[in-house]
Amino acid sequence: MHLLSCGITVAESTVLIIGRTILDDCGLLVKTAVVTGGGSGIGRAVAQRLRADGLHVATIDLNESDEQFAYTADVTNPEQVAAALTAIRADLGPVTVLVNSAGLEKFKRFTDLKFDDWQRVIDVNLNGVFHCIQAVLPDMIEAGWGRIVNISSSSTHSGQPYMSSYVAAKSAVNGLTKSLALEYGPAGITVNAVPPGFIDTPMLRKSEARGYLYVDKNIEATPVRRIGRPEDIAAACAFLISEEAGYITGQILGVNGGRNT
Ligand code: NAD
Repeated sequence: MHLLSCGITVAESTVLIIGRTILDDCGLLVKTAVVTGGGSGIGRAVAQRLRADGLHVATIDLNESDEQFAYTADVTNPEQVAAALTAIRADLGPVTVLVNSAGLEKFKRFTDLKFDDWQRVIDVNLNGVFHCIQAVLPDMIEAGWGRIVNISSSSTHSGQPYMSSYVAAKSAVNGLTKSLALEYGPAGITVNAVPPGFIDTPMLRKSEARGYLYVDKNIEATPVRRIGRPEDIAAACAFLISEEAGYITGQILGVNGGRNT
């Protein structure tokens, strides 16, 4: 059995490909989404959620994976991003949804931070977003419809000690989000950011193991009194990507249990 995006369950789905446009049995456009950082944590949960919602989903990650439609690329390398996008378009059609979740932190006292550390964090968290948006925008412009969600960080609200490069990069992502929303709203494309609070992922647990944050203390300081789950972020992304969120753009939607830090 197969659940179509129009909500009808059929024994076997018929998919019609006209040029590069994929229509399901109901004649509805099957959207193709790319989730960067889809190999782990938040990106993985977003990819699973969007698949469950009926989208075709490709992931791009630095780490290789045997999963279907998992493409290996470094988002800081525009040639690798372009090659992944060429393969994704050939396999799944034009891309009209992009979630930028690939990210990297390097906790360090500012005086210990080498310029190489600074540059790598800016490269992955900011320049990677630049390269991926540049690579998919032409598809969205041609379709006259698109959704971009950038995963930034709640650390941008107040700053965080030992995270200067990361907070600088993520703050820039919020600024990029607002500017692109103004620029591409007339083209039918919405651009929003989701800054997560403390979410239980390998990145967070690695930082805890290195003694840079304490999950229990953060839970105490969080109004809803729990750590966030990757699925909490995936739910926000799924909404921002939906048709009914078409009047929401340029927004920074905190998903943080009420804790804006
Ligand atoms: P994670 O480490 O579990 O996942 C990050 C993924 O990004 C990994 O699969 C990694 O391989 C991939 N990646 C890293 N560099 C890459 C590159 N150059 N090219 C392609 N892929 C690359 O981390 P996560 O917690 O799921 O983080 C997802 C996003 O959420 C990140 O942007 C992170 O900064 C942000 N974030 C996380 C938290 C949290 O508490 N977990 C809080 C705020 C923001």
